[in-house]
Amino acid sequence: MKNKIKYSFIIPAYNEELNIPSIYKRIVEFSKQLHDTWELIFINDGSTDNSLKELVKLSDNNKNIKYINLSRNFGHQAALSAGLKYASGDAVISMDCDLQDPPEVVKKMIDKWKEGFDIVYARRQNFRKDNFIKKTGSKFYYRLLGKFANINIPRNVGDFRLVDKKVLREINKMPEHSRYLRGMVAWTGYKHTFVDYFRPDRQQGESNYTIGKLATLGMDGMFNFSVLPLRLGFLLGIISIVIGFILLTYQIFDSVVNNIYYHLYKWLSVMLFIFMGFLFMLMWIIGEYIGKIYDEVRDRPLYVIENMINF
Ligand code: UDP
Ligand code: MG
Repeated sequence: MKNKIKYSFIIPAYNEELNIPSIYKRIVEFSKQLHDTWELIFINDGSTDNSLKELVKLSDNNKNIKYINLSRNFGHQAALSAGLKYASGDAVISMDCDLQDPPEVVKKMIDKWKEGFDIVYARRQNFRKDNFIKKTGSKFYYRLLGKFANINIPRNVGDFRLVDKKVLREINKMPEHSRYLRGMVAWTGYKHTFVDYFRPDRQQGESNYTIGKLATLGMDGMFNFSVLPLRLGFLLGIISIVIGFILLTYQIFDSVVNNIYYHLYKWLSVMLFIFMGFLFMLMWIIGEYIGKIYDEVRDRPLYVIENMINF
């Protein structure tokens, strides 16, 4: 008899009490057409509402439903990492809890996986419309990252994707603490493809990705996968030196040829502006790297699990 395939659905949930029952129903419904085994792993990322109660209820009734309960809110990427670590499927699908990542798209992803692709990204055809700042911000960000990242991180994809268990094995080996999973997945270099879809609006509740959280995620992507911040400092440094020299040459020329007298403070202020700006830029860059070193050196676990059910 042919071994049955097992699928893992990984769903981080932060204050999703209203969405958990619906996504559960959708996945159970969807899984019926798979004719294979599956597990659904929720990660309760320190929710302050009744999400945990909902998960307890679901996991009591159905042994395919598992949950990991984190001790506090560790953030989306950490929660997702926890789920990926304990997933036991042959193909692992990560998705949002709010039904913005429709289970129906998963069918297409599975087909691609069966064709032999190890990573299948769901690519959004429409752009975020929730918030002007988020929208333009992420457009600009992806363009920048696409240009400067040292690996090819696909555009317009979130964390809705399917990965083969061998990709997962690599991801789970990575100890880094500032986690940008879509970059890490791309970094493994396994064969990938895309499934396009229209991303619907969040079903219930508010987006938990505040602009602050989004910015942190973006910074992690930039600093972990590109040298753009370094180059930016370098560029600004060069520009300031060039401007400084132009001003300086002008003053020298003016005072020698036209015999104009320049007060000492004028000379000094030109120099001061240049070098102070230069120094600040360098300090900022060094600071970012020190921050990173600090983060790694602390070597804290990524998350703390309070309890795990049905494993
Ligand atoms: N999420 C999480 N921890 C957080 C923030 C979000 O686990 O600190 C989960 C959330 O429950 C959802 C997913 O991450 O399943 C994506 O979050 P959200 O829908 O708020 O982001 P958006 O779709 O607006 O990018
Ligand atoms: Mg969402």
